[in-house]
Amino acid sequence: MMAPPIKIRTDSILAKPRFDREDLVQMLTVKEDREKHRIFRKAYETKKTFAGNVVYLRGLIELSNICRKDCYYCGIRRSNPHVNRYTLTREEIVEKALWAWRRNFGSIAIQSGERTDKPFIDLITDSITAIRKETSNALGITLSCGEQTLDTYRRWLDAGAHRYLLRIETSSEELFRKIHPDNEIHRYNDRLLALENLKKAGYQTGTGVMIGLPGQTTDDLANDLLFMRYFDVDMVGMGPYIPHPDTPLGIEMESQKTEIPSLLPPAERFDLSLRMIALARIMLKDVNIVASTAMQVLDPDGRMKAILAGANVFMPNMTPKIYTGDYNLYQGKPMVMDDPMVAVKELEIRLKSVGEIIGYGKWGDPKHYFKRTQ
Ligand code: SAH
Repeated sequence: MMAPPIKIRTDSILAKPRFDREDLVQMLTVKEDREKHRIFRKAYETKKTFAGNVVYLRGLIELSNICRKDCYYCGIRRSNPHVNRYTLTREEIVEKALWAWRRNFGSIAIQSGERTDKPFIDLITDSITAIRKETSNALGITLSCGEQTLDTYRRWLDAGAHRYLLRIETSSEELFRKIHPDNEIHRYNDRLLALENLKKAGYQTGTGVMIGLPGQTTDDLANDLLFMRYFDVDMVGMGPYIPHPDTPLGIEMESQKTEIPSLLPPAERFDLSLRMIALARIMLKDVNIVASTAMQVLDPDGRMKAILAGANVFMPNMTPKIYTGDYNLYQGKPMVMDDPMVAVKELEIRLKSVGEIIGYGKWGDPKHYFKRTQ
């Protein structure tokens, strides 16, 4: 990634009604702190105007780490033999959802390794149905359970889920091919099709990318943002790439020891991720943007910084503690706490000091969805 040759004035770029690729590349690379902070400030202002001074909660349930995919970056990839595989029972899922409901979380998010078999599809359908029934439809439900058929997406929507997050991982087909095996269950076009099907089914649809992947350029990242605008997403979930030692991409990193030309140092990956969040907020305005766990891994104050750069959703992890450590997508993923409420309360205090509140009891749907589907 090359430093820009001339001094860049971000204020003149930020004043534009619509950014092009070159604008985005400049803002992703500008070095001066003053210019950088202008971007964050504008993003936070945009958040307050279009999404309010509220942060919404999604209690995160990591339903299963069994996965049929073999993504080169992911710790729970199918051929990692060091993973103790688990799948929560419907009772466990519902119990966690009710826990979140009683604490007024407003919404939950169910995330999982990817499977397409009937027992898996039924488990999710039945869990959603039970959660709906036992909370009298009071709890919002986001799914993040990978690529499925339009039919499956419709079944889960009919059961009562209404938001779905499926990261494209990278909008560059070439880079996508480098970080996934070359076979029929890891096709860029299928992932795109799945995203289109989510919209077709009627979900509030979200996507996102990993930031700082080996071989990823700032042009790629600018294109990722343009992709999100073009695809007209309702939600964004993105975060830094963090190597996992039991993955092909992680091993590659380690074997290069000190000099890793293709991997940015953590602080730079974090900085780039913050800029991506800020630029997504400025461009997409009334969408929901997650302050992801991976942000917190690279910076102890990562989540708060993400919010101040435009994020408005926080996903406290509620996966049962006995499975702590089994859903390790990347190295250093924080352990599940005894009480997820502790993280919420901590954040609430921080938020209060900047005039933000937590949207207890609210679904916190992205306004963008209602505009898009009007
Ligand atoms: N398989 C599901 C969700 C589980 S993985 C789906 O595709 O929706 C959730 C996200 O974790 C992935 O989309 C990916 O972007 C992210 N992830 C996986 N490995 C990672 C790593 N090493 N560093 C950072 N993020 C990672």
